[in-house]
Formats: sequence, structure tokens, C-alpha cells
Amino acid sequence: MHRTPLVAVALATVVLIAGCDDKPTATPTSAPSASATPPKTDYTAWAKGKSTPVADPVYPKHGNAGLDVLHYGLQLNWAPSTKSLTGTATIQVRPVEDAATITLDFKPYTLDSVTVDEAPADAAVQNEKLVVRHPVTADQPVTLVVAYHGKPATTPFPTHRGDAEPLGLTVTKEGGLWTMQEPFGAFTWYPANDQPSDKALYDVSVTVPAGFSAIAAGTPGAVQGNTFTYRSDEPMSSYLQTLAVGKYKKVTAKGPGGTPLTYWYRPGADAKLVPSLRKSPQFLSFLEQRFGPYPFATGGIVLVDSESGMETQQMITMGDKLGKRDTARFETDLLHEYAHQWFGDTVTTSTWTDLWLNEGWATYIQFLWEQQQTHFSDKVLRDFLRKSDADLRKRLGPPGHPQAANFAEGNVYDCPAAMLMELNDALGDAKFFALAKAWVQTQKYTQQDRASFIAFVNKQTGKDFTKLINSWLDSKTTPKSS
Ligand SMILES: [Zn+2]
Repeated sequence: MHRTPLVAVALATVVLIAGCDDKPTATPTSAPSASATPPKTDYTAWAKGKSTPVADPVYPKHGNAGLDVLHYGLQLNWAPSTKSLTGTATIQVRPVEDAATITLDFKPYTLDSVTVDEAPADAAVQNEKLVVRHPVTADQPVTLVVAYHGKPATTPFPTHRGDAEPLGLTVTKEGGLWTMQEPFGAFTWYPANDQPSDKALYDVSVTVPAGFSAIAAGTPGAVQGNTFTYRSDEPMSSYLQTLAVGKYKKVTAKGPGGTPLTYWYRPGADAKLVPSLRKSPQFLSFLEQRFGPYPFATGGIVLVDSESGMETQQMITMGDKLGKRDTARFETDLLHEYAHQWFGDTVTTSTWTDLWLNEGWATYIQFLWEQQQTHFSDKVLRDFLRKSDADLRKRLGPPGHPQAANFAEGNVYDCPAAMLMELNDALGDAKFFALAKAWVQTQKYTQQDRASFIAFVNKQTGKDFTKLINSWLDSKTTPKSS
């Protein structure tokens, strides 16, 4: 039996760009702004962007649990000839607590101007943080506007995955762009609360030269001249945003419920993969039959120069190098990324400790798809998963305790997939799929964790699976079959 395409899944990585601009950068505007009366802004339009940020225990240097970004408005301009990005980020922020500064993740750009509620603010970029010296009060939102420019630089990927590439905004030989940014990396192109528990709404507009197209997560809007726009009406974690620029061609299609789909590919590099992209409605049908309606207004795929694939929200970012090696595997990887639109994007893990919650589901679903395609027995799958679980647990530890240096390695894929198969065996298909569907459809656009998963499973099934789930997440060896 073939191995899970897990190698292809999530990430990108490494190579610290040495000596990037971590020096403090003074803004030209530095007037203190304490005395101004903030303009009255109605923040209710961004109420869906409200979250309850928590500090991430795995990557504590990233993100700020003291802030809840409600909405990012990003106006970007990419100049391939000079490889420079110019941006204005208009960010509606709800402080969770009183603080002397507004601090977000950001590098390596030069600040052109910074305002808070339209008043100039003193700010600097230092140690991969944008620090705006402006006092804020808990639950009184402010509007931060940051104008900046510079050359994108990637950030190292903390993993030993075979497909590891640097994280963050990557410039291609042709003067294009792409990014993969899990567990972090959004901060390489806009000021971000770059951790999973702060979901926000987005409006992104990207201006590129004639002949280029720009693609981001969200629902595509009208293209005006060479400016491409995307809106996320459902909240999204920063690792699920994407940006790709290149000489793309576009194919449009409809999903099973009429959902508009867009596939973006480069005719020279990627034409051979278009037939695989066109199978998206089949992937979506398989998923909708089991887990309920596709949870977003639109979907699609953008192909980029990567070894990896990411479940970026409403627009999957897929490395074309995967497809050039193995079409069948590329297609099961696509199914995996589509499964994440339910498991990971709609319902998102609060911290990277619970990455198993995203990857366990997507991996198990991927196996179910492969089983449907190639007809191997449940026993074959069960034996495979238990064997893989034993090997991975030994090498990488239990999936509920991931190490910071081993982001998204095999143990957070196959081990929780084995656990879900155990649950499926215990419940039978009807109850198991009812549970899975309810998990997503009754908790749309939320963040969850181990405790809430256990509570949900127990409540939904009327049985106590606490011990089963904890032992699969914590044990150093493969739990015995119950
Ligand atoms: Zn995945």
C-alpha cells in the first residue's frame, strides 16, 4: 500500500536571509498622538473578525495574544523590475488588554508613514516586530494604517521535512511571487498577528504590471486595469492567506453546488497539470457528501514554484513540482488541501500544539479517498496506519506534543489519522460521519483545541472517548486497539 502523500502537505522553508533589515527604522512621522480625539469609526462591519487570541506555546515569539485584529485591508503594488513591494495596510485592531504599544509581526520593510486613528504615530520595525508607540485600551478598537516599501525576504522553516523550503514571500526568477506561511510567514509581506488563534477578515488589492496577474485568498472581485482584488468575508488565520504573482492564465469552473472555482496556472510551466485541477468538482463532491456543504463562497487553486501544498482559504496554493513527479499523488494532495477547507480553515486549531487536529482529519480523509479510488480493505489501511504510527511515534514523539524544531512532520499526520480510524471503528460509519459533519458545520469559522474536541466528541456520541483520544495524543507507543 502506498504511503500517504503527507510529504506534500503543508509547508515551505528555510534559509534565513542573513542581515535583513532588523535595524530599527524610524518613521518620518513621529508626532505623539495621545491627545487627539479618535474619529468615531463603526467597527460592527468587522464583527466577524473578532477572536480570542491565545499565546502560542510552540512559537511564542510569533503573534500577540494582547491584540485581536478584526480586519486587514492590504493595498499592495509589486514591481518585478526592481523586485520591490510597496504596501499600505489598513488594520482594524481590537486591543484585548490595555497596552502602551500596538505590536505586530513584520519584516523587513521600511516604514513610510504610520497613523493610528488618522493621527501620526511613532513606530519602528525591530526584531521582526512593528512596534507602534500608541497607548490602547481594552476593547476599544483602533485603526492602524501602515505605509511601507522594500524587498521581500523569506524566513526559516522550523522543520526537517524533506520538502522544506523557506517560509514567506518568495520572489521567482520571472519576477513573480508566491508564499507558503504555515506556521508563520505572513509577516514577510504585511504587518500581521501571525499566529493561528487570531482570525480576521481581509480585503486585498494587488497592482501588478501588464501581463502579470495577482492571486490571493478570498473571493475574487472585479479586476480594474492591472489591480486584482480579493475579499475574505469569513474570518481567516494569517497562515491561510496567500499571494501569488506571475504570468498566469485563468480557468473558471463550477463546484457541485454551483460554487465558482478558479484555477490559475502558468501556460509554459503548468499546462500539463490543468486536467488535475479540473477534477476539483469531484474532490468537492466527495467531501460535501461526507462533511456537508463547502463552507465558502468560492474556491480554487493557484500553482506555484514549490515542492509543497497549502490549504490557503478559498484558494489552495499548490506546488507544481509535486505534480510534475506524480500526477496521482498530486491529485490526492489536492483532495487533502480541499479537505482542510472544512478541517483547518473553517474550524482552526487555536495553537500549533494541536496541529494534529488539522492534519489528522485531512490525512484520514485523504486515505478514505484513496481507498475509494483503489479499493484497499479497511484492514490494509488499519495495519498501515498502526505500523506508520509506531515508527513515527518512536522517531518524533506523540502527536499531541510537537517539538518546535519539527513543524508538521509525519507524527501529526498519520498518528491522529490512526486515532480517527479507531474512532470510526468504534462508532461505525453513520455515527462517525455525523460527528465529523457536526464538528465543522456547527462550529464554522471558530478556533478549537484538544479539550473542546474531546468535549464535542463525548457530547455528540453520548460516550466517553476521553481516554482513547488522550492516549493517542500522549502515548510514546501506539495505543492498543480497544
Ligand atoms: Zn494538511
